[in-house]
Amino acid sequence: MDLGISGHTAIVCAASKGLGRACAEALAAEGVNIVLNARSAETLEKAAAEITAQYRVTVTPVAADLSAESGRAALLAACPAPDILVNNAGGPPPGDYRSWSAADWEQALNTNMRAPIALIGAYADGMAERKFGRIVNITSSVVRHPIDAQGLSAAARSGLHGFVATIVRGLAKNNVTVNNLLPGAFATDRLLSNFAFRAKREGQPVDDVVAARKAELPAGRFGDPAELGRFCAYLCSAGAGYVSGQSIVLDGAAHPQAL
Ligand code: NAP
Repeated sequence: MDLGISGHTAIVCAASKGLGRACAEALAAEGVNIVLNARSAETLEKAAAEITAQYRVTVTPVAADLSAESGRAALLAACPAPDILVNNAGGPPPGDYRSWSAADWEQALNTNMRAPIALIGAYADGMAERKFGRIVNITSSVVRHPIDAQGLSAAARSGLHGFVATIVRGLAKNNVTVNNLLPGAFATDRLLSNFAFRAKREGQPVDDVVAARKAELPAGRFGDPAELGRFCAYLCSAGAGYVSGQSIVLDGAAHPQAL
């Protein structure tokens, strides 16, 4: 299927590895030029070189921490007029809400709520003027299906979802869509670090915790980041202009809906 976005430009945030990288690769496979972001310049440049070599598109690395205004300004300077924006960042650490400080809350809200909102604010009007825009926010299934210890993540991402719901109607007539992708358990470094936290808390070997979690999942496996990447690319396609304001859970039927 031709997604009709070859030659477009996409900013993919937090994309040197994991889900962000999978989105960047799926878009690059469609001929989309990529502005690739993460904080660490070394891993970012390696990822950019690998994507360029495989897909023959232009990949521009922008090393910046998007939780900081200066990081977002660097991204804006490198790419003032993208066609596609994939918002993503590292997730807040799990923990006990009784121990979270004001600084912990500030970090989570800056990274997972204010940063994507600021980038949408910086780019959506330009997309509307150009009559094409696709914005995808990678959030978490924890917004719909709470996980104990993930309160920072659930709170910050719920704020983003609430904001998105207030802007989609104003953008629809100019062919700008905004959707949220809510991953369940996908096999990335982030997932493994969450298991390490759980294993320590429960005094068990990590491998046992991982095996037990897989056994609980209806699919009997974790999601492959490439599966989320391809879904993201579809949402960014020319033909997906009538899908907006949706929050879509990708969790292998771990939390099926009745209807
Ligand atoms: P990951 O494998 O740890 O990758 C995170 C990526 O984000 C890296 O490229 C990292 O590079 C970059 N990054 C982190 N903080 C950043 C920042 N402030 N500014 C710019 N880049 C940043 O994580 P993942 O599993 O792909 O997760 C991506 C998002 O999905 C997270 O918010 C996570 O909580 C959420 N999620 C994941 C799962 C899952 O099962 N994997 C499930 C639900 C939700 P640098 O460190 O170099 O910046």
